[in-house]
Amino acid sequence: MEIINRRQRMSSVARKIRREQDKTVGLVPTMGALHDGHLSLVREARRMCDVVVVSVFVNPTQFGPGEDFEHYPRDLTKDTALLTDYNVDYIFAPTVEEIYPKGFSTYVNVEGLSEQLEGASRPGHFRGVATVVTVLLNTIRPDFAFFGQKDAQQALVIRRLVKDLAFDTEIVILPIVREDSGLAISSRNLYLTPDEQNSAAVIHKALVQAKSAYKEGERNANRIMEIIRNTVESEPRARLDYVAVTDAETLERVDRVDDRPTLIALAAYVGKTRLIDNTILNKVKKKDGAATQ
Ligand code: AMP
Repeated sequence: MEIINRRQRMSSVARKIRREQDKTVGLVPTMGALHDGHLSLVREARRMCDVVVVSVFVNPTQFGPGEDFEHYPRDLTKDTALLTDYNVDYIFAPTVEEIYPKGFSTYVNVEGLSEQLEGASRPGHFRGVATVVTVLLNTIRPDFAFFGQKDAQQALVIRRLVKDLAFDTEIVILPIVREDSGLAISSRNLYLTPDEQNSAAVIHKALVQAKSAYKEGERNANRIMEIIRNTVESEPRARLDYVAVTDAETLERVDRVDDRPTLIALAAYVGKTRLIDNTILNKVKKKDGAATQ
């Protein structure tokens, strides 16, 4: 395994693999502090592609002022050890200056999908995500890029981006990996105290309750959101930021849930830590659990 820091080197290595060796390249973009959620993407990339590149880059443009960019967990040594075990071929770990050199002034904005939910709570977040993903896709030109359903809106934004800007990369979205408690695994879970970890399980519990209400016949989106709100707020350490019931493709709010795929997405604070989670009602089942574009 090689660790590459330079954009130019990454680009020429990937070009050689594709052109001279005629191998497929899979990219798993991450911000590091790797956990089982990331590793599920790496495993699938390893299964599907000849050569696997994992990028580790804490992208400053997707953090708002006052967010946790400075404090975001970074441990490249530990990440490297994990990725060695998973037979990854390259880690692309550029510096901020390497991705955003002096004079950088081009940003990518996926209109429509970027403004609501996470975008409303974190203005500019998806502009930062779309921009860095564009730079990564153009640098590496992977055949496949792997993302998690944990960041449901991000997955939609990236699919739209790839379609609209005609990238030659197939986007693969993989299911949310959870702790035994149901808590969606996240690098930000490292911020939680043991008590807060226990409390954070309420987020998944709220989604499960909403889902079972739906199964029992509840179709009113307001009442489904009410179940989530009540459950989350029954936990003293938790505070709901938002909950939304939307069309799973367009993110348009729905009043009544019909039989189309419908996203229930939420963000909640547990203590000072902001966590997100989601579930899809009426999910279209794919053969291998992976949803490809
Ligand atoms: P991050 O390092 O948080 O930017 O995440 C990198 C990728 O891993 C994104 O595509 C995330 O959606 C995905 N990911 C993070 N947590 C999970 C999880 N618990 N299950 C599945 N995918 C995840």
